[in-house]
Amino acid sequence: MNSEIRKMFCDLLGEDRVFTEEAMSQHTTFKIGGPADYFLMPDKGEDVGRVIKICKEKEIPYFILGNGSNLLVGDGGYRGAVIQIYRNMSSVTVEGNEITAQAGALLSAVAAAAKNASLTGFEFAGGIPGTIGGAVVMNAGAYGGEMKDVLTEVTVMNAEGDIFTLPTEELELGYRTSIIKTAGYIVLEAKIRLKEGDPEVIRETMKDLTIRRTTKQPLEYPSAGSTFKRPEGYFAGKLIMDSGLAGYQVGGAQVSEKHCGFVINAGDATARDVRTLMDNVRDIVYKKYGVTLEPEVKFLGEF
Ligand SMILES: Cc1cc2nc3c(=O)[nH]c(=O)nc-3n(C[C@H](O)[C@H](O)[C@H](O)COP(=O)(O)OP(=O)(O)OC[C@H]3O[C@@H](n4cnc5c(N)ncnc54)[C@H](O)[C@@H]3O)c2cc1C
Repeated sequence: MNSEIRKMFCDLLGEDRVFTEEAMSQHTTFKIGGPADYFLMPDKGEDVGRVIKICKEKEIPYFILGNGSNLLVGDGGYRGAVIQIYRNMSSVTVEGNEITAQAGALLSAVAAAAKNASLTGFEFAGGIPGTIGGAVVMNAGAYGGEMKDVLTEVTVMNAEGDIFTLPTEELELGYRTSIIKTAGYIVLEAKIRLKEGDPEVIRETMKDLTIRRTTKQPLEYPSAGSTFKRPEGYFAGKLIMDSGLAGYQVGGAQVSEKHCGFVINAGDATARDVRTLMDNVRDIVYKKYGVTLEPEVKFLGEF
């Protein structure tokens, strides 16, 4: 940590939005991760651009964080600036059938706004514990729905700090990917179009999906959701289960017995435990089925 750089961030964002040596275990759903040199919480797009300008001038790497629900941060932490786009940029407004959400809004908040306005089509996302930004980047999906089905446009910032709006057709949304991911854009805002629905049916659908999640997923443990992507023609969880790996453990990291697609932090797991377990699972599944499991979870920092 460099005190001159810290001062530059403080002058821009204010002392209360700048942290140093911030434990990333507090900002990831895995509850794992060492310290980030700088942890910054801007509250507008322009400030995100200014922070990035400082990072470039001072040659410090930066990383955009949402709710940290698809992320494994190394035990050694991150030598750079984590820029969190979350609660400080999380407004949600409903106008007719359209919802405009800032990137930091939680999917659950958007789903609640849709439900309150009797709009249907976003029920699938209500139980995904991420932000709109994180969901757009990876075209998050569940129970037959995905962001691609509901987005109309997304406002992004490029690495030069230019802000522009892309219609859905230009987002190149695919299975857990988008142009935002490949071009390294930052999501600032998204517009979603839904249909008018029956409030009772919307409520029942959301309730049903919550029950399906709580009965099938190990939500009682910290995790980052599905650890591996779905390989074409297979389900990662089933391959792992059929390989006899339910409950398989490395240190505090464990393949969930409730849902083998999830690696859980069963107690004091380190990032190294999770990485080693993931490598072993990948190798064992490959040996048995000839299928290569690829991580869905993102890795950040020093392991
Ligand atoms: C219990 C559990 C259940 C889950 N279920 C599902 C599910 O059903 N379906 C599903 O798709 N996912 C699921 N996930 C994974 C995760 O919630 C989603 O991937 C979510 O979209 C990640 O959002 P986030 O804000 O937490 O992103 P983060 O984990 O903070 O970041 C993930 C990636 O997105 C990037 N990013 C985040 N915000 C922005 C932004 N504003 N601009 C640019 N890049 C950004 C980050 O740089 C990083 O590369 C689950 C996770 C958990 C823990």
